[in-house]
Amino acid sequence: MVAGCCGNDTKFDGASLAFKRTLIAVIAINGTMFITEIIAGIAAGSQALLADALDFLGDTATYGLSLAVIGMPLIVRARAALIKGISLAVMGLWVFGSTLYHALSTSTPQAEIMGAVGFLALVANLASVLLLLKYRDGDANVRSVWLCSRNDAIGNVAVILAASGVWASQTAWPDLVVAGLMASLFLWSSLQIIRQARAETLQAQPA
Ligand SMILES: [Zn+2]
Repeated sequence: MVAGCCGNDTKFDGASLAFKRTLIAVIAINGTMFITEIIAGIAAGSQALLADALDFLGDTATYGLSLAVIGMPLIVRARAALIKGISLAVMGLWVFGSTLYHALSTSTPQAEIMGAVGFLALVANLASVLLLLKYRDGDANVRSVWLCSRNDAIGNVAVILAASGVWASQTAWPDLVVAGLMASLFLWSSLQIIRQARAETLQAQPA
């Protein structure tokens, strides 16, 4: 999930080849999990899985963009951050809308698929956390990628708990509540990123 993470790494300025390679591995993990979770989310009828899938998509794009703008001038990185912030806001609004829509229907998500894929996502994020572990004391931006994967792992635990709740209650509510929380976090993070990007844009413009 995205509590002040997933995109606040616009100031990343190069670091080592080893870090770039690690970032590429983490991008591959996130991209694979996006495809896995979007299919599973639709199959299971789970809003929480779909929200988590979008988080993986956002992280894949965010880390890819970070990799692409390494070493570029601040104004370019600030604009990239603004794009990230706006797409995160769109994602948050979509999850909110789609969750509300599903709250009106009576279908119950498939708890077994939710739990199994939620667990797979947890393993994927823990693998990213381990890959990034030695960079966690790096600069603010390097650290933010690590923090992001760690926070996402906490989000995966919420999805697994939602799956247990759906299984126990045979209702969609635990799924919808977790999806709503994830949408709120998307919107909150997008505000932080947009605010930071605007500050950096002002900073980059000559007085
Ligand atoms: Zn994330």
